[in-house]
Amino acid sequence: MSPSALSASTAASPSALPPPASSPGVRRSPSPPARSPARPLIPTVPAAAGGGPGTFGPTGPGPLNGKVVAIDPGHNGRNYADPSYINQQVFNGREPEACDTTGTQTDSGYTESEFNFNVAQYLTADLRDEGATVVLTRTSDDGVGPCVTDRAAIGNNAHASAAVSIHADGGPTGGRGFAILEPVADGPNDAIIGRSQTLGTDLRNAFASGTGEPVSSYDGTDGIQARDDLGGTNLSTVPKVFVECANMRNAADAALVVSSAWQARAALAIANGLTTFLSG
Ligand SMILES: [Zn+2]
Repeated sequence: MSPSALSASTAASPSALPPPASSPGVRRSPSPPARSPARPLIPTVPAAAGGGPGTFGPTGPGPLNGKVVAIDPGHNGRNYADPSYINQQVFNGREPEACDTTGTQTDSGYTESEFNFNVAQYLTADLRDEGATVVLTRTSDDGVGPCVTDRAAIGNNAHASAAVSIHADGGPTGGRGFAILEPVADGPNDAIIGRSQTLGTDLRNAFASGTGEPVSSYDGTDGIQARDDLGGTNLSTVPKVFVECANMRNAADAALVVSSAWQARAALAIANGLTTFLSG
């Protein structure tokens, strides 16, 4: 998403829809069309200063009234441009970890950071429509960071009822599927392990039924993998998991992740899993 596209969008409503950056030939229609399954346009929120975190209130009443959900689109579109910042070591609750990484990409060069950001935008619109307030860890895809420690802190400071980090994997080319990454107790996150496991199960079930994507053939068991090396969950004090939506290095999955329709479907599945979790 280009800076001009985001800064030009002053409306928080999904009805103001600039075209996705990956479709430069798509012109903005004078009267914005409704989202269609054939070519859904990505609903955007206004970018905060510098593309940093932002908080967006509900757009409708629904089952998530009064809930705060933290959504973390993994990586950032210009992380590659500032290695000294991205490679700085931060303490992730258990050990040193890089501030962030660039993420992966498909063979055709479609980046994970753009995929993550697009899914997060659809998801934000879905959750706001259901009555939730959404806290995003970044509001553009043309910045650097924030560090994984800050991504955890943003959800913690918002006292979110749930937090989800959106990713896609760079796994073996012969493997495909999605996985939920769940926290392992390390001190700071001790109190959220059980609820995070429930969140993970709800998201695993919703993602499988909502997308038809198989559980990962190489990561975890039945789509669930415990991880003790991620600052985003090691330092979380609110229930949190990562969703690795697909394997960008696999040809079948790569064909899905570049599709706006599939990004919207993945987001809706995650929204449904969050609604199940937050209604329980
Ligand atoms: Zn990632």
